[in-house]
Amino acid sequence: MENAKILVVEDEKSISDIIKFNLQKEGFSVIASYDGEDALLAVKMENPDLILLDVMLPKVDGFTVCKKVRETSTVPIIMLTAKEEEVDKVLGLELGADDYMTKPFGMRELLARIKANLRRATIALGPEIDTAQSNEKEFGDLTIDLNRYEIRKKGKILELTLREFELLRYLAERENKVFSREQLLEEVWGYEYYGDIRTVDVTVRRLREKLEDDSSNPKYIMTKRGIGYYFCRA
Ligand code: CA
Repeated sequence: MENAKILVVEDEKSISDIIKFNLQKEGFSVIASYDGEDALLAVKMENPDLILLDVMLPKVDGFTVCKKVRETSTVPIIMLTAKEEEVDKVLGLELGADDYMTKPFGMRELLARIKANLRRATIALGPEIDTAQSNEKEFGDLTIDLNRYEIRKKGKILELTLREFELLRYLAERENKVFSREQLLEEVWGYEYYGDIRTVDVTVRRLREKLEDDSSNPKYIMTKRGIGYYFCRA
């Protein structure tokens, strides 16, 4: 994890330089992109382990970059948003970002977020897990492979981000038990997340779009009105 490669996409050079300096001090390898077009190229060429992605960028904006990257990759993406762009957080998550930070932020906080997101990705892909060995659990017509980090529905692999995978796994392993949004934030996201429960709603919505035959009439991830969510075998 120490040598993880991080792509920093930020057009304000002073901010980019500070981030780069601090990440390198922690032992990360850092690539800097100053506009969205270059960022998309860097993702292809450099195959980073994590992306820090500013929203307001020249040429191609951060949301578009996020959406494009998600077409081919589940690399962790942390969006960097300005304080007044509250609504952007939700949009970023809908487009597949894993996390977001509001500028200005402290370096210690940023490092904690980066490490938390890398840890999850490492757990998913780490060498200590024998990916040749499947470790499958069946939940009705869903199969969750804990080693390969794969979820199949009637044999067909679902393209989920790590966060979506973890939320689904968490709920499925605790079938029929209802969890509040706050509980899910704490258990699945694993750290203080500014208590923004919309994060859970957005992730559930995106998961349903991929998982359910009809996302407006879900059969797996159920809403318990006024309380939260639970998993149910379809
Ligand atoms: Ca910017």
